[in-house]
Amino acid sequence: MEISVMKPIMNIWCVGRNYVAHAAELKNPVPESPLIFLKAGSCASFSPKINLPQWTKDIHYECELAVQLDRHGEPKLLGLALDLTARSVQSALKDSRSPWTLAKSFTGACPLSAFVPFQTVEYFNSLNFRFYKNAALLQTGNPQHMLFSLPVLLEYIRSHFPVNEGDLVLTGTPSGVGPLSSGDRLRAEITAEDDTRLVEVTWDVI
Ligand code: ZN
Repeated sequence: MEISVMKPIMNIWCVGRNYVAHAAELKNPVPESPLIFLKAGSCASFSPKINLPQWTKDIHYECELAVQLDRHGEPKLLGLALDLTARSVQSALKDSRSPWTLAKSFTGACPLSAFVPFQTVEYFNSLNFRFYKNAALLQTGNPQHMLFSLPVLLEYIRSHFPVNEGDLVLTGTPSGVGPLSSGDRLRAEITAEDDTRLVEVTWDVI
């Protein structure tokens, strides 16, 4: 059962380096507490097309499980998000110890799937997600491999930030991130333990 997400989405709370293998592939240390950054809520896109920005040639996909929060800050809906990242821009910002906004929060930087009702944390932890580019499987993820579990992330975010109903939380990306090019066809899915498909989304990169 697909559900329309609540709109507008005010904030997109993102978690960096929440899968150890991904932190390692970008040669980043593993954080001791959740590494939270923002994408503007206006980055959210439900278009089946991804328009790459003109000012960089180096946009990476990061496929992530996303939850939309209810008015209590509890997960209400579940879907997939791409945390699109201008990687070389981000690397330069990291080197100069500057904020990541330009690399993470450009127009269209958060393509989203349709969402389904969030069930329980136990069920969430049993899910798998996959990301394909031009039919090649490039990312596989499972919440059991998260450094900080969903309840820990939500507690951390609610206790530090002004969370609004309808906000999204992106729970981090597993290893296998890489570049996008115009003409790429992307597909991502969430499946249950018995391989039932809960969410599927395709995007065409323009
Ligand atoms: Zn990410």
